[in-house]
Amino acid sequence: MELIARTCRSCGAPLKFQADAERVECLYCGSVYAVKFSGEGIGLRAAKGLDAVARELQIARLKEECRELEPRLQEKSREFETWKVTSILELKTVEHLRDQSRACAIGFGAITVAGGLFFVAMDVLLLSAITVLLGLLCTIIGLLCTIICMRTYHLNREKFHVLGQQVESDRVRFGVEMRKLTEAVAVRQQAIKRLVQISERT
Ligand SMILES: [Zn+2]
Repeated sequence: MELIARTCRSCGAPLKFQADAERVECLYCGSVYAVKFSGEGIGLRAAKGLDAVARELQIARLKEECRELEPRLQEKSREFETWKVTSILELKTVEHLRDQSRACAIGFGAITVAGGLFFVAMDVLLLSAITVLLGLLCTIIGLLCTIICMRTYHLNREKFHVLGQQVESDRVRFGVEMRKLTEAVAVRQQAIKRLVQISERT
């Protein structure tokens, strides 16, 4: 069955009802609407609302719900602030490691090439076995260091990428949870305001 979404004309809260419903009641301000289906679509005609006693009870219930929701929202905001500090720190640490290992790989690579060239030049000039050996040894060690640093760099880059995605999905989750709580409080406060207005008028 299709679910129809409308807004309560009295308090602005969301109204959801089945496509075959004859009447719909606002869960917040208690307004009742008769549902009219016609060629032009779905119309809502205001029927009776709450009586004075029911209105007071509803106000009390909504206030109680707000009292429960507000600390949860505050707790969630605190949790979010803590998470933000720790996750940013963690992300920065991994980013720093990544940049450091990349710099090391570039440094060792440059030293290897320069060292290699230097010893080749020495070999040509001196033609001694010891410089050939030293040159080979330095180049091999340099190459090994470069490979190790490149490997570390790739691991850190991957770690940074995964962590970045995790942080982003956590941020979205926090946003959704906080928005839901904020909306839940706002819709109740709006309904309370509306019910108080009706009480004052009657
Ligand atoms: Zn309403």
